[in-house]
Formats: sequence, structure tokens, C-alpha cells
Amino acid sequence: MAKIGINLKEGTLTKDAERIVGIDLGTTNSVVSYIKNGEAVAIKNESGKSALLPSIVHFAEDGSILTGVAAKLKLEEAPERTVFSVKRLLGKSFEDLEKIQEFISYKIIDGGEEQLVKIQMGEKFYSPIELSAELLKELKRRVEKHLGESISKVVITVPAYFNDSQRQATKDAGKLAGLDVLRIVNEPTAASLAYGIGRGNENEEIVAIYDLGGGTFDISILRIQNGIFEVLATHGDSFLGGDDFDKKIMDHWLNQNPSLKEQVRKDASLRQKLRLEATRAKIQLSTSESYQSTIGPTPISIDKTTFENEIRSLVQKTIASCENALKDASLQKKDIQRVIMVGGSTRVPLVVSTVGDYFAQDVYNDVDPDLVVALGAAVQADILAGNQKDMLLLDVTPLSLGIETIGSLMDTIIPRNTKIPASLAREYTTSVDGQTKLKVAVYQGERNLVEHNRKLGEFILSGIPAMAAGIPKLEVSFILDADGILKVRAKELRSGVNQTVEIKSQYGISEEEMAKMLIDSITHAESDIAIQALRSTEVEAQQVVRASEKFLQQHATILSKEELDNTNKLVASLKESIGNMSKDEINKRMEALNSYTRPFAEKALDYTIKEAMKGKKISE
Ligand code: ADP
Ligand code: MG
Repeated sequence: MAKIGINLKEGTLTKDAERIVGIDLGTTNSVVSYIKNGEAVAIKNESGKSALLPSIVHFAEDGSILTGVAAKLKLEEAPERTVFSVKRLLGKSFEDLEKIQEFISYKIIDGGEEQLVKIQMGEKFYSPIELSAELLKELKRRVEKHLGESISKVVITVPAYFNDSQRQATKDAGKLAGLDVLRIVNEPTAASLAYGIGRGNENEEIVAIYDLGGGTFDISILRIQNGIFEVLATHGDSFLGGDDFDKKIMDHWLNQNPSLKEQVRKDASLRQKLRLEATRAKIQLSTSESYQSTIGPTPISIDKTTFENEIRSLVQKTIASCENALKDASLQKKDIQRVIMVGGSTRVPLVVSTVGDYFAQDVYNDVDPDLVVALGAAVQADILAGNQKDMLLLDVTPLSLGIETIGSLMDTIIPRNTKIPASLAREYTTSVDGQTKLKVAVYQGERNLVEHNRKLGEFILSGIPAMAAGIPKLEVSFILDADGILKVRAKELRSGVNQTVEIKSQYGISEEEMAKMLIDSITHAESDIAIQALRSTEVEAQQVVRASEKFLQQHATILSKEELDNTNKLVASLKESIGNMSKDEINKRMEALNSYTRPFAEKALDYTIKEAMKGKKISE
């Protein structure tokens, strides 16, 4: 319940700003936190031991649903009814996930409609959104119990590389859990906020956020200034994390002890015990020099040096990613002003020292690395609640958004790295007389030809009154909200006909594809420009042909037979070149037609062409 207060000085009632909590919906663990007396705190589970909710959902035979530690206990006993790493499935298509089927124990099936994935649990089918919602519901229960008030408003974090389908899916999961998701925030942004970076009107800062969790590694490079968090580059490995460290320890023990290897092969529960021992060993080695225990009658042990030698190559792989991220951002190590450590696996001393050595500086790791993202989400929530009035937080859009224009060209309306929320519009016109319909096809990407970009959707604006080509004024507006979700409106300004659609993103672009799109846009820039130049010449030539033909139709009487014949010939020759010849040849023929017709049709033709050429054209 919101509290009502009385301002004694003014004698007015003041309502406490509504509480908004922050949620880190992680691949391995999820955390909820809030601001208590000006300080971010993560809320612990009922036993009061840990704030981490393992991101695992178990569907019991009797229809009940378990989450967190209780679900984790079922992982080996009932793997086909226990879902872990749900986050990997969010907003992805079946095709994307076929590749990872071997990593998971539950069954994913092609949802068909909109390419959504479903997870089969016995007779029932669940979407990743429903599964994430179960985790969010549990966090909601946890925070409500702790605070003794009902909570609905939240901020949820996502990786910086999440595309808009994945962000939308996260929002949908919140909605399904009965939450009002006010903002989706990038995890590295939240981590920076938890360290108080970017909270004032300070100078530009370049920060690297190194996030090594249970099963994923991300490195993000942010430029932070005046409350704007710009993602300069992200890189990583979606199958590298602390779980791999555990596996290295397990393999070490098994290789050392062939009889244990034999026993484990036959006994699944022994294997589970050994895995738990491996995790315990890893955690202990973060603060001790060695670990000893027994598995059944067999003693097992490992020392820190052996462990470090086992995982060295994995840690080195993360450094290669850091290198790539720097390259993508066109930066050098010395440009990085701070390095922030995020994720439970950065508690491993070898990770801290390797990253510190690479960037040649002390890293930031005082804030609990597995809580830091949730704590930052609470800070962002507090800002949104209006408790930090001087702060405004903005994110930027990672890829350009635009529409297809004639010649299959991408016309960018909202450029990449625009601060969001953003609303931008552009005016277009028609290319054909009497055109009553307009197709608005929306794309995301940096390439000049739409076929190389990602199609987000399309719709038709119909009912435009028939007018000559070039006369309609078609305004296409893009409204991008603070979560990166896009609304597109098309309006014919003379008649007022308009239509707005929320672009439902097609599910299924992977982070690799996203990175590839950016890289391709750079490597293909030159050939793209050449193709674009050819296409625009062709479009222009098409306009000139149409205008000339129309002119000949309307003004045939004012021309002599010779003029008529010559014009027709030049038009035919130009027509022939379109789609068949080089840009220069088309230009030459266009110029020939133009210069021949100019003297006797200067005004009329000029008028028609000018009208036709005004603004950019959209094909019907
Ligand atoms: P995610 O962001 O993927 O949800 P977390 O940030 O919670 O994951 O990290 C989970 C990983 O951190 C697990 O592999 C866990 O074993 C590991 N971890 C947690 N504490 C420690 C520790 N003290 N030393 C080493 N690894 C740890
Ligand atoms: Mg995490």
C-alpha cells in the first residue's frame, strides 16, 4: 500500500512516491532489490542466507510449480521436467535454438506461429515467456513478503546485446507475472549505476563491464556522459562461465581416479554429488589454497594452482573477447577508464588478476558481483520513481531503423546510437500516378540495401485519394519508447488518412547475427555505396521515363513529328538501359533525353519532373 504523508510546513497531503523495485533476471540466478534509506539492498530468500534465486523452474507431476533452490534439487532427478537457463530461450526462434538442444535436458519444440518456441513438460506446453514469468512471480512474492506491501512496478535488466524481440519478451514475462515493467535496462548500465558512475553531470567516461556468470560471458564497453549510457561494443561467449570451471574440476577428479570414473558412469546420483563437490571446491578456492572432501569412501582434493591451471585457457578466451570488443569500439586498452567486474565467477582470483593485468589497472569489484546488476536496477528504479530528481537516464538504440524506399534501398529514419526515447519523422511521396496504397516496410540495420538488413514488419496504408505521382505528402513517423520498442505511423498529410502499428518484432535474431550485421555494414560499405548509386540512378531514370511518356501523351500536339520520333527513340533507349547497363551509361542516356527535350519542353517537363522528384519515393 502506498503511504499518505502530511507535509506539516505546507499543510498538504503528500503521497509517498510509489515504490519501484529492480530485478536482475539472470541466466543462472535472479535477484530483486530495492532502495532502503537511500541505499540499494538485495532481498534475501526465506532462510535469510542468500539473495540469489536460481533461475530454474520445475514442473512436478502433480501440476505444482517449483522455482529456485527447490527446483534446482530436481535437476538431476527429473531433468525432463526441470528447466534451467530459460533466459537463453527468450525471444528466440526454434531455428536459433536447435543449435543448443544438446546443452539442455528439456524438450523444445517449434511453436509454429510467429516462430515462437515452446517447451514441453509432460502434456503441457510452455513458452519461455511463461517460464520467466514464474521466476518473476517468485521474486514478486519475495519482495512483497519482505516489505509487507504489494509491488507491481519494476525495472528489469537485460544484456546489452538483447534485441527488441528479446526485450519485448522480457516485458511480456513481467506482464504475465502481474508486474508493470517501467523500464528495461542494460545490465552493464545497471552495474555502472551501482558503482555510482554516470549519476552526475560529469565528463565523458569509457567503462568496460566484464560479466562472467554461470554459463555466459559478456564484455561491454560503454561511453557514459550526462546520464547517457552508450553501448560502444559488446562481445562475449554464450557458452562460457562458472559451470565450465566446475566441469574442469570434475574432469580432473575423474581423470585422476579411474575407478571413480567407472562408478560415476553407472550412478547418476553420484555424478550429481560430484558436481556439487566441484562447485563447492571452486567456491572455496576463491578464498583458500586447497579443498578436501570425500565422495563415498573416496577422498578427493584439489589445490588452487591445479585449479588455476585447469581454467587458464577458459579465462584466456574471455580476454580474446575483450580484445575484440576494443577493436569493435576502435579503442585501445588505455582508453578504458574503469573496469567493472560483474557475475559470480569474477570471484575467482585468477579472473580478477588476469583481467586486471590485461587492462593494466585495478578492477572494480567491491560490490558483490552477483548482486551488482540487481542493485543498479534498484538505483534506476529509484530514479524513475522520482527520488533522484536531477537524474535522467537515457539509453541509445543499437541499430538504425528505417523503411524500404524505391530500389530496395534502406532509408534510415532513426539512426543507430540515437538516444531513446526518440520520435522522428520523414516525408515521402508516391512514384506512380493514382497510387492509393503505400507499403511501409520497416527494417533494422546499417546496410544500404534492405535485403541485407533485418525486416521488423510491414503494413499498408490504404485509402490515399488518387493523385498524380509526387503530389501526396506521406509522413512516416517512428516512435521508439524507452525500452526500445517501436511504433510506426504513416499519414498522408493532404487527406489525413493515417495508420499506426506497433511493430511486433519477428522473433529470432541472435546476438551473433546482430554483431555480424554491424560488421557487415562496415566491410561492405564500399560495394553497398556503388550498388546504392546504381539503384538511385535507375530510380531517377524511371522517373524521367514516366514523366517523358506522360508529357508526350499530354503535349503530343505541340511537337513536330520529328521531335516526337526522336523523343520516343531517346525514351526507348533510356528504358533499355535501366536494369541492364552501368550507372554511367544510364546517366548518359538520361542526359541525352533531358537535353533534347529541354529546349521545347523546358517549363512543362521541368515542372513534371520536379514534382515527381520532390522528396523520396516509396514503391506501391
Ligand atoms: P548469471 O549472471 O549467469 O545468472 P551469476 O552472476 O549469479 O550468474 O554467477 C553464477 C556463477 O558464479 C556460478 O557458476 C557460480 O558457481 C559462480 N560463483 C558464485 N560464487 C562464486 C565464488 N565465490 N567463487 C567462484 N565462483 C562463484
Ligand atoms: Mg548476470
